[in-house]
Amino acid sequence: MVTRSPALDALRDLIGSTGSLFLRNARWVPGVTCSICTGIPNPGYPTCYRCAERAGSAGLADRLGFVTYAWPGAQSGQTMHAYKRGGATSYQLVSSLLTYAVVARWNCIADRAGTHPDAWAYVPSLSGRQGTHPLARVAFQVMGRVPHVPVRVSETVGDPRSFNPAHFVVSPISLRHVLLLEDTWVGGGRLQSVSAALKAAGVHQVTGLSMARWLDPNRGTTKPFVEGLGENFDPNVCPYTGAHC
Ligand SMILES: [Zn+2]
Ligand SMILES: [Zn+2]
Repeated sequence: MVTRSPALDALRDLIGSTGSLFLRNARWVPGVTCSICTGIPNPGYPTCYRCAERAGSAGLADRLGFVTYAWPGAQSGQTMHAYKRGGATSYQLVSSLLTYAVVARWNCIADRAGTHPDAWAYVPSLSGRQGTHPLARVAFQVMGRVPHVPVRVSETVGDPRSFNPAHFVVSPISLRHVLLLEDTWVGGGRLQSVSAALKAAGVHQVTGLSMARWLDPNRGTTKPFVEGLGENFDPNVCPYTGAHC
């Protein structure tokens, strides 16, 4: 259930006026999008290739939310790149998307999980980025007094996009439910690896929330799917269900 307040309504309207023309809500449509990550499923299967490949692995996130699709050569893709480089307009938009998706949908998470998150974490960059991760900068403000669980990158990392919980280090901790934030889901290997590392460290439930589900229009049926995403972005659509809940 969405949470309403004058401040959240103002934020929703800001997102609508700055992003709705080029962002596109992630869709949860059985048979059309992956039932785990809203990507493009293998023909005849409920999930995409990457999600199928990891299915049954220990520690995967219990549920996932996605705010918008993004793809290269479009303003959605440019926004996700520019925000990381500190582009003011893009940073403001991604910051607003994160704030609204977390604060207005806080109860949506509990509706599905049975509990609100009692801590949060973010998926760190595996590229050796220096300084504070841009998503963390936003999230530390948004999460307020909700405790943060530090996730470190291991000294040795193989294929950074693969599912490998050993890519991340989490100190032992006993928590019921962690909200795990990420800016861009490409194949999901990083978020799912962090989820598994959190669970191995003692976390019972993980809810993942990605700001953008990246699509590659050069692949298979993705191009017609992207071309068919005609509706403007609607901030009232829930990242976890695709409904107006
Ligand atoms: Zn998937
Ligand atoms: Zn919802």
